[in-house]
Amino acid sequence: MVTAARELDPERTAVGIGIAAPGPLDPAAGMVIRMPNLPGWHDVPLATLVAEALELPARLHNDASLAALGEALAGAGRGASPLVYLTVSTGIGGGIVIGGRLFEGRHGLAGELGHILLDPAGPTCGLGHAGCLEALASGSALARRAREAMAAGAIPADSVLLALATDRPPAASMLAAAALQGDTWALAAWQDAGQALGRGLASIINTLDPERIVLGGGLTAAWDLWAGAMHEALAENAVTWPDRACDIVPADLGDDGGLVGAALWVAERLG
Ligand SMILES: [Zn+2]
Repeated sequence: MVTAARELDPERTAVGIGIAAPGPLDPAAGMVIRMPNLPGWHDVPLATLVAEALELPARLHNDASLAALGEALAGAGRGASPLVYLTVSTGIGGGIVIGGRLFEGRHGLAGELGHILLDPAGPTCGLGHAGCLEALASGSALARRAREAMAAGAIPADSVLLALATDRPPAASMLAAAALQGDTWALAAWQDAGQALGRGLASIINTLDPERIVLGGGLTAAWDLWAGAMHEALAENAVTWPDRACDIVPADLGDDGGLVGAALWVAERLG
């Protein structure tokens, strides 16, 4: 990160550094608490390390929270409040922006929407929660489900998915390709994920009554495979749906949401 920042700004004109990192983390202390998908990152003072190396003030926040801010101020969420952002990828993260400001909560941990609890009998996420949204509808959840079904011999022998996963472990992208080729097992897995997403969004809608929800992350590429099931679950579980519904739209900024949000967030604090 330090090397990249020096290359990006050789004239040293930057006024500060905004860092978007996976959580959970402590924004006030600039400290990464742990990164479930990156072993070894435990209580790392990341903001201090970067600030000392670059001799600039540095601030750290959750990547999904900053992507929410980016989408709210410069992307698909512009003009909407409250604005909820959810990234559905390897994991599921989120953020809440109210009146153009990130809602951070007491410890900067608000918006961990991927850990909404849906099914106590379900599989566990990387943080050990049984049946949270991330454990049911993320890319890693879909891949794990396919892996376990393959190991148990529960996928039909003529499945496209089995043909795609002969020489490497199944991934969410493979499940999408298989479903698009008519694989009924893969399609059902996407619809289950869409239903879980719809239930999770219903809880968010019932809590916040947002004006708009922006969905980002790699799994939104498979939108048509799960959106129908998501809307069915919303109709069943969101209070007053669809009479007082909110828009649910894809993100505008793609993988740059966290970068844009980090820049806007640090500029507001240092400007
Ligand atoms: Zn969880």
